[in-house]
Amino acid sequence: MSTSPLPAPALRDPSVDHAIQAIVAGASSDAACATDLAAGPWDFDTVPGYGPGSSMGDVIPTGAPRQGELPAEYREADEDELDARIKAARTALGDRVVVLGHFYQREEVVRHADHVGDSFQLATAARAYPDAEAIVFCGVHFMAETADLLSGQDQAVILPNLAAGCSMADMADIDQVEECWEQLADALGPLDEPDADGLVPVIPVTYMNSSADIKGFVGRHGGIVCTSSNARTVLDWAFARGRRVLFFPDQHLGRNTAKAMGVPLERMPMWNPRRPFGGNSPEDLQDSRVILWHGFCSVHRRFTVAQIEQARAEHPGVRVIVHPECPMEVVDAADESGSTDYIRTAIAAATEPTTFAVGTEINLVRRLAAQYPQHTIFCLDPVVCPCSTMYRIHPGYLAWVLEELVAGRTPNRIQVPADVADPARLALERMLAAKPPVTAGGGAAR
Ligand code: SF4
Repeated sequence: MSTSPLPAPALRDPSVDHAIQAIVAGASSDAACATDLAAGPWDFDTVPGYGPGSSMGDVIPTGAPRQGELPAEYREADEDELDARIKAARTALGDRVVVLGHFYQREEVVRHADHVGDSFQLATAARAYPDAEAIVFCGVHFMAETADLLSGQDQAVILPNLAAGCSMADMADIDQVEECWEQLADALGPLDEPDADGLVPVIPVTYMNSSADIKGFVGRHGGIVCTSSNARTVLDWAFARGRRVLFFPDQHLGRNTAKAMGVPLERMPMWNPRRPFGGNSPEDLQDSRVILWHGFCSVHRRFTVAQIEQARAEHPGVRVIVHPECPMEVVDAADESGSTDYIRTAIAAATEPTTFAVGTEINLVRRLAAQYPQHTIFCLDPVVCPCSTMYRIHPGYLAWVLEELVAGRTPNRIQVPADVADPARLALERMLAAKPPVTAGGGAAR
């Protein structure tokens, strides 16, 4: 099997599904991280774990939502039939329904979306359709929750496959976070009492990629939400109010952002929820500026410095852009880092034919390669390995939920309870008020 980045011509078909089928059938010499990826995601709905793909080694929490069995007519339909049924259902539903698709969704789903974007762009897009009865969110669970928080009370937010969670979001469990807060009070003193400078001991900051429970926790404790586009602005906001920040769930986004702001690494201890004081001494916590939760994205953790070195050796002049959820060494070795929207915008803005090596999810990279044929664009990871949970949204599930809506039923509704929704919304509103981001799109040239 080849270990080189995918050659440009193979990327002109943006479908990751087609690439995986070709690999498994032996028609391609490229590699996939799991041959199970060629199966329908319904094969994994009743099996423990996140399913094949980048998160398959992560530990799924007990109590994670499970999807009921998808009816056989959707499991057995081929791509063309599902495409036609989705289009027909959309025509029948008209403006009553809006379909949102995340950048990391498979091509066969994204082509039916009214809006394609990152998690926050899509959550805010939901607000643009106050008259739609239903918002079908082709993304993962925390995104559908956020759309529910920001959309109208009577609008139903629907996640086509309930098993589409996010392993990173699941790494910050509300019970563990509450326990952490209590232990921080033991180490730092009362957490709601400002010092002589008016700063409280700690401000909790959560990445958008977290459950509504965590956003609610943050809202209740004077904290704020951030995205990968505005993390620096949000940390500035938090440092204006607190001595230190508790950042979850993604250690890498927290570390990369704080490091770029000049926070020394030794003042960024990691909080391991399975150890007393997160595995730190009270002195370490007292001296800290950013306490990093032990979470990560299994998609972005796959990128390495060796891949960047290989891309530079094989493509002199290559421009390497990675997502800030990548490990620090990878971000440091890249030319630029930024949110998915930053990556997209940077490629769109390139006026001369350019070779881009991109460190983010394969569905987005392949779509960009097809969209900008004047450039050579490839994924830094030579192995085709989509996000396990994004991949659970198959067109079969999209056809099913749309046809259920046509029939007057509302399947797979995601609703955040009011006692969580109110503080979670507060944390989101603080983020909106903390705009604008430091750089358009959230990128950082190196
Ligand atoms: S790409 Fe990473 S952060 Fe995004 S949904 Fe997948 S596991 Fe979660």
